[in-house]
Amino acid sequence: MSETRPNIIFIMSDDHAAHAMSCYGSRINKTPHLDRLAADGMRFDSCFCTNSICTPSRAAILTGTYNHINGVTTLATPMDNSLQTFPKLLQESGYQTALYGKWHLGQGSKHCPTGFDDWAVLPGQGFYHNPTFIFKGRGGGERRTVQGYVTDIITEMCLDWLEKRDPEKPFCLLYQHKAPHRPWYPDEKHADMFLNEDIPEPDTLLDDYATRAKAAEAAAMRVGVHMDETDMKCEIPDDMNEDDLRRWAYQRYIKDYLRVVQSLDDNLKRMLDYLCDNGLEENTLVVYTSDQGFFLGDHGWYDKRLMYEESLKMPLIMRYPKEVASGSINHDIVLNIDFPALFLDLAGVPHPVEMQGRSIRPLLQGSSPPDWRQGMYYRYWMNAAHHNVGAHYGIRTHKHKLIYYYYDNCGQPGTDDGLFSGDGPMSSLKNLEPEWELFDLENDPQEMNNVVNDPIYTGVFRELKDELHRLQAEVGDDRHHTDID
Ligand code: CA
Repeated sequence: MSETRPNIIFIMSDDHAAHAMSCYGSRINKTPHLDRLAADGMRFDSCFCTNSICTPSRAAILTGTYNHINGVTTLATPMDNSLQTFPKLLQESGYQTALYGKWHLGQGSKHCPTGFDDWAVLPGQGFYHNPTFIFKGRGGGERRTVQGYVTDIITEMCLDWLEKRDPEKPFCLLYQHKAPHRPWYPDEKHADMFLNEDIPEPDTLLDDYATRAKAAEAAAMRVGVHMDETDMKCEIPDDMNEDDLRRWAYQRYIKDYLRVVQSLDDNLKRMLDYLCDNGLEENTLVVYTSDQGFFLGDHGWYDKRLMYEESLKMPLIMRYPKEVASGSINHDIVLNIDFPALFLDLAGVPHPVEMQGRSIRPLLQGSSPPDWRQGMYYRYWMNAAHHNVGAHYGIRTHKHKLIYYYYDNCGQPGTDDGLFSGDGPMSSLKNLEPEWELFDLENDPQEMNNVVNDPIYTGVFRELKDELHRLQAEVGDDRHHTDID
């Protein structure tokens, strides 16, 4: 096989919402180096995760399968590292492979990274300052603490590995940040950014959840209300009404989030400059994404999990000058499980039949196949666990979204009441009847008006329900026993 196969740099941050990137039209920050990447490549506007939570999304990305197939349904189901993954296949085909940064798929010999010539990962969530890493070694690896700020350190590990690699062979590097995951500790350089300004609030910050399923009001992820002093880095006032508390806490929260994002953008510059200085721009696919989206005060929330747009949508930018027109934008529905198929396609490695994604290479080349998917299937399994979000599944098409909250743990580990770890009040999800939500995304892009009971939408509801069940069967998942025609 020719050794002109492209290099791959897969940059994945943790919880970086597209609406905190200026190339996606952010109203609240500027990310010049992400913008540079987007200007040189393609921005995807409809990339979605199949389960909006860290560990499951990461497993979907590596294996190209839905979570009911790979078994990583919740945060309490570490990935079995004997599963087939794209790094293993690339390594077997002659690629040099490495992974640095956030892993969050479990630890020890059965869950540590495999398929990499070298790796160093944060244990669990890891720390922002002076983090401990687990380095590739016997068994599950060896722990050492590294001085400095986590985003800088992960970048340096990646640059060191690139410097030491064999330039005659292609490489695949997974460059995976912890940032901007909670609890949002900025580095010193950015600690005072935005100090004397007010960040614009999202339109839906004071959402009262009228018309939505009970899951929305029950979700214990309201800015201020369900945050603690670590999140706020100060005491939380106890004399404010909820609207005032949301507005006050939003400013504290979003500033730290954006400061942490700024360091990601700075470090992206270091990587892009390295590629440029070493003649690697032309033959390297550079990907920037995040394991899911995040609520930035939208609907009054932080965190993710729910199938609403801000959480469901993954930022996705790809630069590969050989095949991708600069400054291009794609609107097709792309999924986290599609990544392996693309990377294997570019490397000339056959796509294993068990992988469920599809190569987006034609999209990158600017032509959408006529049979490209028109809807996507989603499922969140962690019923009533952290943040008290009800289990649900649903379908999103270009125009609509249908969600079914079945409020059942379905026997999955890491679910159910009692695991809730936040502050503030929460309502019980026990004994709730299942509920549907239907959103008309063209007329109501902010998902404020659930129209499932509106007679105008009776036909749409029926069609979407059928399509949901068809997609669910197609990917091999089971319908909940309460979901009957
Ligand atoms: Ca995440």
